[in-house]
Amino acid sequence: MTTYLDPIVIVGAGHSGARAAAALRKHGWAGGVILVGEESCLPYDRPPLSKAVLLGRKTGEQCAFYAASWYAENGIDLLLAQSVDRIDRYSGRVVLAGGRDVAYHRLLLATGSSINPLAVMGAGLLGVLPLRTPQHAHAIADSLQSGRRVVVIGAGVIGLEVAAAALERGCIVTVLERAPQAMGRSVPSIVSEAVVAEHQRRGVDVRFGVEVAALDGMARVQAVHLATGEVLACDIVVYGLGVRPNVSLAAAAGLSTDNGIRADRHLRTADESIFACGDVCCYDSQRYGRAIRLENWRNAEDQADAAARNMLGQQLAFDAVPWFWSNQYDFALQVAGLPSLGVETKVEVIGHSRLFHSRDAKGVLQGVSAIGSVREIAGPIKEFRSLLRMTTSS
Ligand SMILES: Cc1cc2nc3c(=O)[nH]c(=O)nc-3n(C[C@H](O)[C@H](O)[C@H](O)COP(=O)(O)OP(=O)(O)OC[C@H]3O[C@@H](n4cnc5c(N)ncnc54)[C@H](O)[C@@H]3O)c2cc1C
Repeated sequence: MTTYLDPIVIVGAGHSGARAAAALRKHGWAGGVILVGEESCLPYDRPPLSKAVLLGRKTGEQCAFYAASWYAENGIDLLLAQSVDRIDRYSGRVVLAGGRDVAYHRLLLATGSSINPLAVMGAGLLGVLPLRTPQHAHAIADSLQSGRRVVVIGAGVIGLEVAAAALERGCIVTVLERAPQAMGRSVPSIVSEAVVAEHQRRGVDVRFGVEVAALDGMARVQAVHLATGEVLACDIVVYGLGVRPNVSLAAAAGLSTDNGIRADRHLRTADESIFACGDVCCYDSQRYGRAIRLENWRNAEDQADAAARNMLGQQLAFDAVPWFWSNQYDFALQVAGLPSLGVETKVEVIGHSRLFHSRDAKGVLQGVSAIGSVREIAGPIKEFRSLLRMTTSS
């Protein structure tokens, strides 16, 4: 086992940062590990925030990956509520906001992504919330009282999960989407139509091609004004407008950033001491023959492990088949591969569930989406992930 004088520093104590710290120990690194995060809570799992936490079945604290004692027991120096302000690549140090600087042997950038803001008048009113942190989730959960009128702006995965939780809690729910379809970046229109139909069947008012002009209220939000002049009365507004990668730290250090921090297939940046993983990492995908960036749980897990191994000297080419899931009401959506690369999508019925096979112009399967019970779809999706692993390499 090799040790070095300087520690491995991980910037971003979120999902992939915490997992990378654990992976360093698992793969034999006995030197120092410093995990720096600007949030004040222990690193946590985000998916339950838009599901179990909104439904009141879990608290944000229960979403922590590990207890505080775990970090101490594993010799991981966890610096919370501290942001890294600067990377000095020439001296191999990072500078924290308070001025403290820390030398690194290897540096992992796991800075994740930030929500796109709602840029309309009235966005600062009380009762207008995004969803990324436990604080957001608790605030939304507290507001989801039966009979309240909830307007969700953005019919992406998070927006639809919020809509489902709000309806389950007895709220009157409207979803407003500027684009012509829901989850447009992630699934083909036939899949989003099937998901939207589940919302509409239960009574959610889902509207497409809608432009929000302004929000209105005294101190709290009371109405959403649409560009058409229509006014929707509401008690709470939740917006989910997608995220953007947190690249400023890397960019200021002269690292290449283009839709994320650019990394090679080993998740290494152009600086051989610096790696990237998770939502922020835009890596060379051998499978797709271009640089891609993924924003999902599985990717945060897998890249954390691969980056940790590569920081320890392995040469593991990261080439996973993308996979994500969403839970809404009593059904799950699972997506393997990149269905957006398909030009034709065909449906297969399995019991009470549906599988959607997306093929490109050459007939090559590029992605499979499934809607239904986890019991019925988990097995087929697993098999398709294996198939895609073999068939989609470029
Ligand atoms: C509400 C919600 C529900 C989700 N549900 C699903 C789901 O059902 N399925 C799925 O596949 N995916 C889901 N995801 C996506 C998944 O959670 C993310 O892809 C994953 O969290 C990404 O991990 P990460 O480590 O890249 O980023 P994060 O977990 O966001 O961690 C990045 C951390 O870095 C910190 N940071 C940034 N800059 C600095 C700095 N300069 N100094 C110090 N710290 C810094 C940030 O504050 C943050 O804590 C969901 C996401 C959200 C928000």
